[in-house]
Amino acid sequence: MTCLSLTDAQRLQNYMQKAKERSNHFIGYPIAQDFDYSELFPLLNLPLNNVGDPTIESTYDLNSRSLEQEVVEYFAKLFKAPVGNSWGYVTNGGSEGNLYGLYVARELFSNGIVYYSEATHYSVQKNIQLLNLQSIVIRTMPNGEMDYDDLREMVRMHRDQPVIVLANIGTTMTEAKDDLSIIQDIFRKLAIKNHYIHCDAALAGTYSALLELKPGFDFVHGCDSIAISGHKFIGSPIPCGLVIVKKNYKERIGKVIPYIGTSDTTISGSRNGHSPVFMWYAIKKLGSEGLKQRALEALEVAEYALNRLKQLGVKAWRNENALTVVFPEPSVYLRSKWQLASENGMSHIICMPGIGKEKIDEFIAELAQHMQHEREQYSH
Ligand SMILES: *Cc1c(COP(=O)(O)O)cnc(C)c1O
Repeated sequence: MTCLSLTDAQRLQNYMQKAKERSNHFIGYPIAQDFDYSELFPLLNLPLNNVGDPTIESTYDLNSRSLEQEVVEYFAKLFKAPVGNSWGYVTNGGSEGNLYGLYVARELFSNGIVYYSEATHYSVQKNIQLLNLQSIVIRTMPNGEMDYDDLREMVRMHRDQPVIVLANIGTTMTEAKDDLSIIQDIFRKLAIKNHYIHCDAALAGTYSALLELKPGFDFVHGCDSIAISGHKFIGSPIPCGLVIVKKNYKERIGKVIPYIGTSDTTISGSRNGHSPVFMWYAIKKLGSEGLKQRALEALEVAEYALNRLKQLGVKAWRNENALTVVFPEPSVYLRSKWQLASENGMSHIICMPGIGKEKIDEFIAELAQHMQHEREQYSH
C-alpha cells in the first residue's frame, strides 16, 4: 500500500488525538477502559470471520471458533445454563443478543405478547417491530424497576396468550434489576402455562453473576435466554456481546448452508472473528477472581462518587450494588464535556473499571465550580 497524503496523515493524527482526549472524559457510558490487548494486535492483519454457527466448523477456516466456544462455555457456566442443553454465540453487542432471545421466543410462541418495562433499552422496541411481535409496555417504579402490579394486571388481561417477559438486569439509566422470582410468581398465580423470560443483562449481567448479586437472574433462577454486552464490563475496542439460549429452543432456528459448510443459526452472516478473541483473552488473563476484584473496586468507586455528590448537596442516588450513580442533569457544558447521557432531567455516572477515584474527583471539582458560578449568577 502507498502512504497517506500529507493532509490525510494530518487529519488522521488530529482524529487520533481527539479520540484519546475524549477517552479521558468518558464517565457517562457503561464502558470499561482498563484493557490492554496489544498482544493480540498481529491478528488485526488477518481477516478473521466466524460466519455461521460457532459449534459447527465452517469451510471458512480462518476463524476464531475454538476460542469463541470457550467464551460461550465460560458464560454458560457463569449463568448456570442447563448442562448439555445450552447454546450461544458472540454477538455484535447486547442489542443483537436481545433480538436473538426474542427471535427464539417468537419461534416457540408466535402469538406471544412481549412485556417490557418503560425503562427498557430503546433497541428492544425496534427488535419487537422487526419480529412483528405483539407487546405491552409495563410501568416502572421510581428506581427504574418493573412495576409488578402493572405486569400482573396486564398478563391477567391477556392470559390466553403466551407471556414473553423481557427482564432488565440493569436498566440503561438507573441500573435497576427486575426480579425474576416475582415475575414467575405471577405466572404461577395466573396459571400461565406458556411463558418465556429473556434477560437483557447487557449492562450488569457479567459482574452481577460473578458477585452473585441478588436478585438472581440466571437459568437456575428461571430465565430462558440471556444477552450481555462484551464491550461494557469486560471491555473491548470493538463492540461485542454474547447470547446464551437453551439449546432445544435454538434448534428451531437455522438451516445448513452448503456455501459456508455450516449452519446459519445466527442473526448476521459474516461475524466478527476478532471480538471473541478479545473476550477470551480478558477472561483468561483476569480469571473469575480478577474479574470479581475489578467489579468490587468499581462498586467502591460508585459508592465514593455517590458520597462526593451528596457532600456537594447534589440529590444523587444509586440502586443497590449498582455502578450507576444518578443525579439531576448538570449544565450542557459538563454533559457534553464528560459525555453524560441524560433523560428526563436525570444524568448518570457509570463507574465501570478504568474510572478511578481521581477521575471522579476531577469531575466533582468541575461540577462544584459550575454550581458556585450558578449561585453567583442568581445572587446578582
Ligand atoms: C447497552 C445496553 C443494551 C444494548 O447493548 P449494545 O451492546 O449497545 O448493543 C441493551 N440493554 C441495556 C440495558 C444496555 O445497557
